[in-house]
Amino acid sequence: MYIQVPNIVPLDNILPDEPLLMMGAGPVPIPAKVASANSIVINHLGNTMAQIIEQVKAMARYVFQTESQHILGVAGPGSAAMEMAIVNLIQPDDKVLSICNGFFSSRLAEMATRSHANVQRYTVPNGEFANVEEVARLLNEFQPKVLTIVQGETSNTVFNRSLPEICALAKKHHCLVIVDAVCTLSTMPLEMDKWHIDAVITGGQKGLSSIPGVSLVAFSDQAWQVINEREDTLRHWCLDAKLADQFWYKKSYHYTAPVSGILALHEALRLVCNETLPKRFERHLICSVALQASIEAMGLSLFVPKPARLNSVVGINMPDNVNSMELLNFMSSHYKVEISGSFGPNIVRIGQMGEQSRAHNLFRTVHAFGSSMKALGKEVDLPNGVAALESNLQPLSQSFNVT
Ligand SMILES: *Cc1c(COP(=O)(O)O)cnc(C)c1O
Repeated sequence: MYIQVPNIVPLDNILPDEPLLMMGAGPVPIPAKVASANSIVINHLGNTMAQIIEQVKAMARYVFQTESQHILGVAGPGSAAMEMAIVNLIQPDDKVLSICNGFFSSRLAEMATRSHANVQRYTVPNGEFANVEEVARLLNEFQPKVLTIVQGETSNTVFNRSLPEICALAKKHHCLVIVDAVCTLSTMPLEMDKWHIDAVITGGQKGLSSIPGVSLVAFSDQAWQVINEREDTLRHWCLDAKLADQFWYKKSYHYTAPVSGILALHEALRLVCNETLPKRFERHLICSVALQASIEAMGLSLFVPKPARLNSVVGINMPDNVNSMELLNFMSSHYKVEISGSFGPNIVRIGQMGEQSRAHNLFRTVHAFGSSMKALGKEVDLPNGVAALESNLQPLSQSFNVT
């Protein structure tokens, strides 16, 4: 006897009639070119793939701002790319200084601990960015081999604006720097070579506006030397950078690359290159500042004070009389707009990554957000919020010559 065929509802009956507008902390909406590339399967070891891999690496070098010849793709989430950086650079008993702002930066510390490193955590107080003097003190005292840090902590919407200074300090101490840029890459400046970063991690589904599950990690020459000189055998076969190098630089087999996802990533990177980084950063900045002004003009407050506030994901304090889950459900069912709750503080989060930073998406989101707040009993000044959005988006239409 076979186990019985299960009763399955067709996807059409499960998915909403029209796609929801994904304005949360990721995944974000993907452009049509990315979606269409993601529907194609090709030979993972053929000439077409080889050409695509060359272009992905060339475009990634631009987006990471690096000349590195050690950019690797990972069939896995941003976390797999984080783990790839950690397990290849860290050996048991290595000293690691982990700057922990929240959920994701602490994940790097957790991964280092699981790799049996000697991990010292610097837990940054909520609402603040990592303090340069404190990092200097810890580098002096602890003399770590590796420092881990996040550029934008998605979970509590904090921006480590002191990242370049911290990288420079670490360099002086001959300490390798691993930067998690999953949320921020291509939404704000990050210059891998100029800032002397040794490993930069990104995922697909945030700043780059590609699909989740295919990620990138870039290693500096110095990091690659550490990897090359290791004599032990890595316990992680899939995440072994030297094995991944076989596929990414030597046209040979490691595992079957996620061809469709790499094609999608190719298109996402191409769109970044077409837009150029300065224009893309400007678009993200204008859109996020306009969103923040709009929320405040409605009469609500933002979670993080300005100096440490992340633009790529905006955290909004929830009024006492509104339940955040109810708000999210209301926005989703009535307005087909999705935003995120949080892992801790009583906030909701609206993303400004990639395709989320478009005027039309912002108007729809602000309208859905304000209307839902009102429906759930919080008096907000929605017209004032929309007006603030409109006036703050003006520089966008000027810089893009839209009349
Ligand atoms: C989303 C995110 C991650 C994890 O990415 P996954 O694809 O979910 O594994 C790591 N770091 C930051 C800063 C993120 O925003």
